[in-house]
Amino acid sequence: MKALAFLASRFVAGEGPQEAVRVGERLKARGINATFDELGEDVHDKDAAARTMRSACALLRMIPKGVERNISIKMSSMGQEISRELCVENVSQILDAAREVDGFVRFDMEGSKLTESTIRIFQELRSRYDNVGIVLQAYLHRTPDDVKEAVRRKDRVRLCKGAYKEPPEVALQAMPEIRKAYLACAHELLANGNYPAIATHDEALVGDTIAHTKAAGIGPERFEFQMLYGLRSRRWDELVAQGYRMRVYVPFGTHWIPYFYRRLRERRENVLFVLRSLFR
Ligand SMILES: Cc1cc2nc3c(=O)[nH]c(=O)nc-3n(C[C@H](O)[C@H](O)[C@H](O)COP(=O)(O)OP(=O)(O)OC[C@H]3O[C@@H](n4cnc5c(N)ncnc54)[C@H](O)[C@@H]3O)c2cc1C
Repeated sequence: MKALAFLASRFVAGEGPQEAVRVGERLKARGINATFDELGEDVHDKDAAARTMRSACALLRMIPKGVERNISIKMSSMGQEISRELCVENVSQILDAAREVDGFVRFDMEGSKLTESTIRIFQELRSRYDNVGIVLQAYLHRTPDDVKEAVRRKDRVRLCKGAYKEPPEVALQAMPEIRKAYLACAHELLANGNYPAIATHDEALVGDTIAHTKAAGIGPERFEFQMLYGLRSRRWDELVAQGYRMRVYVPFGTHWIPYFYRRLRERRENVLFVLRSLFR
């Protein structure tokens, strides 16, 4: 287990919030912002959901002023699968805490059985709070419609490809098709959306975003790039040096195993990294 934790430390900032905040401070010194995520999902009892909620509030309050108070949360860890009311209540408390410290809360998107419910909870809270944003996954067949709706409602969207294994009825399967869908959604959000986040390590998509926004006269202050802690850190600095806004997703906590496995499943290079480390 210790060996596994060591390997995961490439992708996870540490077990406690202090370690994550220290990473955030180091990123800030490089001109890079962070969004902090305490790992954990699928909570099935009220007390655990309340604990997760309290620790998100505490995290918002402990991020120092010089570092943006920006966190990412998962509805499944806030009681979404127990009851919608409980989840809304828990998340409202986090959004109140965020408001007090001028913070921002992003709802991560999970597997497709939670998509509709996550979007509904988001829309309900969005009518009361503006310090909140959602994630949309380009691989889902429904996402072009969700993007249109988000643009109409001026919602802040982080666009990613999607990290969960989904069936063909629900999501595109082939990478060229997912890339094409990503670009169509990204172009719509960049032209008409509210400060979208282009969340990808895929150079084809990063390069297209740069070329497309230059050609369309969309300034670098109208969007940001986002990447995950541990992936392409040299590219973060290059983008900042070129005048782009960059935010890194900084996960931390003791429940890092599902997150770590998702990163391994995604890319052969991540697995190779782990194997190389094992033999060193
Ligand atoms: C900030 C952030 C937040 C996210 N939040 C969510 C979420 O809420 N819900 C969700 O389902 N998913 C989320 N994801 C994960 C996302 O859906 C993808 O699973 C993940 O980002 C992998 O897709 P990719 O586009 O980054 O590139 P990949 O599909 O992994 O890679 C495609 C290509 O990108 C290039 N590339 C990738 N990495 C590198 C590298 N290290 N060096 C050089 N080239 C590289 C290569 O050309 C590669 O072939 C998030 C991702 C990010 C970055």
